[in-house]
Amino acid sequence: MNKPARRGIDLVDFLAKELELLKAIHLYRRLPGPLEKPPRPGTIINGHDVLLFSSNNYLGLAQHPRVKATAVEAVERWGTGSGGSRLTSGNFVLHRQLEERIARFKGTEDAIVFSSGFLANLGVISALVGRGDLVLSDELNHASIIDGCRLSRATVKVFHHRDTAHLRDILLAERKSHRRCLIVTDGVFSMDGDIAPLPQLLQLAEEFQALLMVDDAHATGVLGKKGAGTVEHFGLEGRGIIQMGTLSKALGSEGGYVAGNAILVDYLRNRARSFIFSTAPSPPVVAAAMAALEVLEEEPHLLDQLHANVQRLYRGLKEMGFRVLPTASAIIPLMVGDAHHAMVLAAALAKKGVFVPAIRPPTVPEGTSRLRITVMATHKPEELQRALEAFLSAGKMLGLI
Ligand code: PMP
Repeated sequence: MNKPARRGIDLVDFLAKELELLKAIHLYRRLPGPLEKPPRPGTIINGHDVLLFSSNNYLGLAQHPRVKATAVEAVERWGTGSGGSRLTSGNFVLHRQLEERIARFKGTEDAIVFSSGFLANLGVISALVGRGDLVLSDELNHASIIDGCRLSRATVKVFHHRDTAHLRDILLAERKSHRRCLIVTDGVFSMDGDIAPLPQLLQLAEEFQALLMVDDAHATGVLGKKGAGTVEHFGLEGRGIIQMGTLSKALGSEGGYVAGNAILVDYLRNRARSFIFSTAPSPPVVAAAMAALEVLEEEPHLLDQLHANVQRLYRGLKEMGFRVLPTASAIIPLMVGDAHHAMVLAAALAKKGVFVPAIRPPTVPEGTSRLRITVMATHKPEELQRALEAFLSAGKMLGLI
């Protein structure tokens, strides 16, 4: 007899086997930590004091006194939740203030805030293109872009990483037979730390009448003189690039946004389903993001400090003989190759009190497992030095250098 309960047991059996398979190929994931203190350079994970080289809290703003105080004030004034979507009763004065602030920061006419960066990508891509349209996506784009492309039902073509010649070939072959076309790229690639060739992408977008969208999740608060991201980095303000980003990394809060011209933003308010059908971001989250933008404006030295720290760690690792990829962002990939070796190196570092996660497929392509080191403006020189010493001894012990 095929009763539902029996099917349930079969399912558990199937899932358990899948998990065993993941373990056998070293791709099983377990939650690290947990952190017992905030994600500062020095924190406590699982009862151990560690130096954290894994947080996207690049400027330390998630613990900045003013950012925290503003979030607390917002809770006192507004409460903890917004209680509705923006199009119903969740549209507070705070949300609009944040959107105006983001637009000013990004140099655009307007901006729209989503509950997360992931939701922003799903919403904007699926709103802008659909059946009969074409999306061209860098092969290393973030999962949320990939899912947004799938959700859109447009034809999706993936171009080789940062390869504008390949992109051009695809445009030549495909553009004519599609209605709208969207070129989409990470600004800073999340696992590689390298930067999209935005000027060349814009040239192609203009030549082939395509929209261009950049995901500045890891570029906001990192690239550009005032930290406004990839568009500022290349001086491409006012050129119609759709700037998506997240408030959850250098800005120390939560939520995603899209900044662009007023008509685009108005259209997204009407068509981006992840905006329309999701509860508005909570008051403390919105207030914290706004305060973080103010701090960024008033304390530009944080950006200089971040880049000085990145370069110091990068140079140290390179001199030791590690395979580190050059970077202008806050992400230093230390290439290992084999997934198991990457895990072993991460474990050896953890033993020495340095927390850096191993990144394996499917997050990165097969054979490119690595440690993804992220640096913060708030790392002190002696913390960077201690980390370098740990890398040296773990690398030697494992024969990697
Ligand atoms: N885009 C990129 C490039 C990201 O790295 C991330 C977060 N890992 C996101 C989008 C999603 O942003 P959020 O965490 O705010 O959902």
